[in-house]
Amino acid sequence: MFSNEMYELGAHSSVIREIFEYAKKRAEDVGRENIFDFSIGNPSVPAPEIVNETIKRLVDSVPSTELHGYTSAVGDNSVRQALAEYLNRTYSTHFRKENFYMTAGAAASLTITLNALYEQGDELIVLAPYFPEYRVFAEKAGMRVKVVPSDEKTLLPDFAAIESAINEHTKAIIVNSPNNPSGVVLDEDCVKTLCALLEKKQREFNKDIFLISDEPYRELVYGDVEVPYLTKYYNNTIVCYSFSKSLSLPGERIGYILVPDEVASSGEIFKAVCGAGRALGFVCAPALFQFVVKECLGKTAELSVYETNRDLLVNTVTRLGFTCAKPDGAFYLFMKSPEKDAAAFCERAKKYELLFVPSDSFGFPGYVRIAYCVSTEMIKRALPAFEKLAKEYF
Ligand code: PLP
Repeated sequence: MFSNEMYELGAHSSVIREIFEYAKKRAEDVGRENIFDFSIGNPSVPAPEIVNETIKRLVDSVPSTELHGYTSAVGDNSVRQALAEYLNRTYSTHFRKENFYMTAGAAASLTITLNALYEQGDELIVLAPYFPEYRVFAEKAGMRVKVVPSDEKTLLPDFAAIESAINEHTKAIIVNSPNNPSGVVLDEDCVKTLCALLEKKQREFNKDIFLISDEPYRELVYGDVEVPYLTKYYNNTIVCYSFSKSLSLPGERIGYILVPDEVASSGEIFKAVCGAGRALGFVCAPALFQFVVKECLGKTAELSVYETNRDLLVNTVTRLGFTCAKPDGAFYLFMKSPEKDAAAFCERAKKYELLFVPSDSFGFPGYVRIAYCVSTEMIKRALPAFEKLAKEYF
């Protein structure tokens, strides 16, 4: 009568969404000011003023049929051209508008890309901890997911483990830097090591292995941390970008796929991207927001509050006895659970209205993710709760 597989996906929402819904319910019961919801990556800072200004200007100046009409399936040409020029100016690359496929955010970018690449028997390497939806997207595309845990101490890729995971079935590896859920950023040395390994494996198996760079957090880095532009290090790189976090526009669903000319059979792969977009119903990304992001390239929401939050949280939890790696980017803190079972720790935290996500669904048990895209004031109000929770363990 219906697809059991889809029923299962719909009936059991992600752990993150479950906790997010619990938070909403709990807020109704005890008051929003009394719960400390660190569950979901919903940006807490408003979109920059230029977003609303651009929307108003476009609404006032562009005929409605044009502004809200279908664009080409791949996206509007002037938007794709502006993207190519912006990235070329910023990263000294040589992209053309023909390399870009506009999408409804990174989720669509990823699922289209995976469907476009899939051939029977393909495997996808995913580095844990990872964004849980990767598994849903990859398996639906037909790929077998091979999880490679990162180094327990640094949460950086374990290159020896990646090397042994790659085989003749490996189609691609996904990297996400800055990372959700760990906040870890791959520096240039790390990127070079990874790319050299992929080059070696391409030669060894005499096949293309694609590096899929999932980049919703590219601009969210702190201090002088830089995020290398991966297409410059490895030819077979496909970028899946989203404006959800950089411009605080997650509900508007806008992003793109970039298939550079350097990718093997790039023209054909781009056509496969178009085909996957068509087959999945992801044609013509939201038109108004294509035109909006065109005017906002290089702009971001005011991201400094995330750095303030990171410092406040890292200092607090380490002072209280918890262990965590200081995140260099994104807005997540990956904290070691003081008891083996992270879900049990999250239940205990709930007693104090602290809502964290246990790390099991990120493929890396024994941790919790604390999403600090919240107001600094909420973190300050939560400090006594953190103290009470710590007292149960240390
Ligand atoms: N990839 C990662 C690592 C994410 O954290 C998210 C959203 O939180 C996505 C992809 C999906 O982003 P979008 O809202 O653009 O679909």
